Amino acid sequence: MISQKIEEALNNQINEEIFSYYLYLSMQAYFEHQSLSGFANWMNLQAREEQEHAMRIFRYIIDRGGRIHLEKIEKPKSDWNSPLNAFEEAYEHEQHITSTIHKLVDLATEENDRATTQMLDWFIEEQVEEEATTEEIVDKLNLIGDSGSGLLAIDRELGQRKSTD
Ligand code: MG
Repeated sequence: MISQKIEEALNNQINEEIFSYYLYLSMQAYFEHQSLSGFANWMNLQAREEQEHAMRIFRYIIDRGGRIHLEKIEKPKSDWNSPLNAFEEAYEHEQHITSTIHKLVDLATEENDRATTQMLDWFIEEQVEEEATTEEIVDKLNLIGDSGSGLLAIDRELGQRKSTD
């Protein structure tokens, strides 16, 4: 069985991941409204991945004999100044999630919970990728500046992202 502390921390992480789902869903809606369907597609797939992250932790808690306690989800923003502004926030958000995962690893180490530490390894790797991907898109958006044709080129590229399931 997992300790109470770990159970509580993992339940909090479910909330973080569901909030991520909600944030990217809200960004999807923002991009749909801007008729940037490629950006919207990318955000839709990102949102779905976040839901999978939440369920991965959900399943783990159950497997370890813990209880799920779902909490209220924070309200995400629904507007951004520009696609660049939205992706800057996505990148900042992923850095925040990375720090929550690292804190979880510290706690699991303190509690001598090797199974939880090992489960979290997957998330550490995943966060490296999440940060790299969002940062790359921020860089590209910075490169194109005010170029409409540049924006449409990135929109086409992001429209090619495919679901992994
Ligand atoms: Mg996540």
